Amino acid sequence: MYSFTCVCGALYIGETGRLLITRINEHLNIRTKNLTVVGTHIINSQCQANKNCFKIVKSFGDQPFQKRKFYEKVVINKHKHNPSLLNVQDKYCTELDFWF
Ligand SMILES: [Zn+2]
Repeated sequence: MYSFTCVCGALYIGETGRLLITRINEHLNIRTKNLTVVGTHIINSQCQANKNCFKIVKSFGDQPFQKRKFYEKVVINKHKHNPSLLNVQDKYCTELDFWF
């Protein structure tokens, strides 16, 4: 799991089962039609984001994908009142309030 903290303070929480650098390159590739949330932000806000904006939050090694996904939701949920959060909130996050 990783975080992206933009130079403008915008925050994005993500997870990937592949090498982080592969995912980072997708986020930073703003010449594609398939922009990520981060890519869209970089274009819309004209931010000078780079690889140093990404940080590993937690490594899960060989642990199951579901565990990673769940932890991602928990962390996103923690930041849900942060106006700089770029993640699109889903319904599951409000359900988590009940548990945490
Ligand atoms: Zn930004």
